[in-house]
Amino acid sequence: MFQKMLIDGKLVGKDAKGKTIKVINPADAKKFAKVPKGTKKDINKAVAAAKKAFPAWAAMPLKKRQAIVSKMADVVADNAEMLARLMTKEQGKPLPEAMGEMAWAEGYLRHYATLQPKGRTIQNDDEFKIEVRRVPLGVVAGICPWNFPVLVPFWKIGPALIAGNTIVIKPAPTTPLTILKILEMCNEFVPAGVINAVTDENDLGPVLTNHPDVAKVSFTGSSETGKKIMESSAGTIKRVTLELGGNDPAIVLPDVNVKETAEKIFGGAFLNAGQVCLAVKRVYAHKDIYDEFCDELAKLAKDTIVDDGLKQGATMGPLQNEAQFKKVKALIKSAKKDGEVLSGGVVKGKKGYFVKPVIVKNVKDGDDIVDKEQFGPVLPVIKFSDIKKVAKQANASDYGLGGSVWSKNTAKATRIASTIQSGSVWVNQHINIGPHIPMAGFKASGLGVEQSDEGLEEYTQIQVMNVAK
Ligand code: NAD
Repeated sequence: MFQKMLIDGKLVGKDAKGKTIKVINPADAKKFAKVPKGTKKDINKAVAAAKKAFPAWAAMPLKKRQAIVSKMADVVADNAEMLARLMTKEQGKPLPEAMGEMAWAEGYLRHYATLQPKGRTIQNDDEFKIEVRRVPLGVVAGICPWNFPVLVPFWKIGPALIAGNTIVIKPAPTTPLTILKILEMCNEFVPAGVINAVTDENDLGPVLTNHPDVAKVSFTGSSETGKKIMESSAGTIKRVTLELGGNDPAIVLPDVNVKETAEKIFGGAFLNAGQVCLAVKRVYAHKDIYDEFCDELAKLAKDTIVDDGLKQGATMGPLQNEAQFKKVKALIKSAKKDGEVLSGGVVKGKKGYFVKPVIVKNVKDGDDIVDKEQFGPVLPVIKFSDIKKVAKQANASDYGLGGSVWSKNTAKATRIASTIQSGSVWVNQHINIGPHIPMAGFKASGLGVEQSDEGLEEYTQIQVMNVAK
């Protein structure tokens, strides 16, 4: 399979014989497709096309722009199974999860298609009419990670287009296929240059973030890259939205139903093999239930069927790429040294990047597996005894993306949750997100907001229209 890039309404990239990037199936570590290797020239062409398309797109009545975003949702819905299969092959997640991502992407697009940037009139009297308008910025660069290769680009495309901007998408180097395929289908009705997509080998991001004609960068990825993006965007004072890493704590109080809570936390930790920014990445379990809670998690880990995501019955796929596999293997090694591994580990005898869920007991703050973002199927469980101090412990992290508190006493749990320094805090649940719910991060987890009306505003610029009568 060879899938071209999209620039100025044209499918670009010589053919499979030109310079290409291999797309690897993480379930067998074998190449199964190719995409063109984009160049600096391709980025420049894509930005020029987006700049050229911008005035007409921004001037198009909102209803028409909304209809185009709705049609994109139709494309995702009408082709969900074919697209989900392709995504499982390139990303690794089990087919039902890939179908879930298609449903999510469709739902987010449908919601964006109902939104509109909201201005307001702040004065209208005999002397002046003063309006605050929300106008588009121009060309947006959407730089994407590999964990949700369809959902995340549409988190950017949807609001960017509704606000009246045009966009250049740069997928992650290891997961370009599915999103390029969808954009090819959408090219039938999206005006040329409004959406462009250029693939790279991790080398073209800076070309976008330094480009003088890019007005805003919307980035989802690691905190390290986020810092570089802020730095390089400074030269041209670009607007920047950064959705970065996380190390979400889940605090479990002693009054919970252990089995039920363990099941829910397990789900929140191991979705997409733990490669989720908002996954539970550390559990603080009270000493009274600690052993029982760890045992329940370990049982669930042992029951997980780790296999090729296209195989029926697989409940967890491989890690997405070799670099992440190596990073997770190193963390498992350090976890074995620092604590007690109750279950799981690297799956032997398979070619792909498979890890069976690892539950680590008797670890503490300061251990690598607790302090670092694992972004993989390894969950440390820390014992705590002082409910008054546990939020402070959870807050001693550079990250602040999400967090949750679990208790039968929801009022008490909510009080503790309100002291967690994270953009999203949940009570008796984890990862309840949606297009109408803002998503933001404290500290090294990000800058700005995505989703919802607040997220849409970030794709606009305030303009004050002040008319003397
Ligand atoms: P990454 O930062 O390595 O890469 C993300 C994207 O940035 C890729 O497209 C990459 O090519 C590009 N990039 C790399 N260097 C760049 C540079 N100097 N300038 C511009 N672009 C550059 O992250 P990843 O490995 O793809 O994703 C994993 C990380 O992303 C995890 O830390 C995870 O928590 C985080 N993440 C966060 C969210 C969120 O919404 N907060 C969502 C998904 C992933």
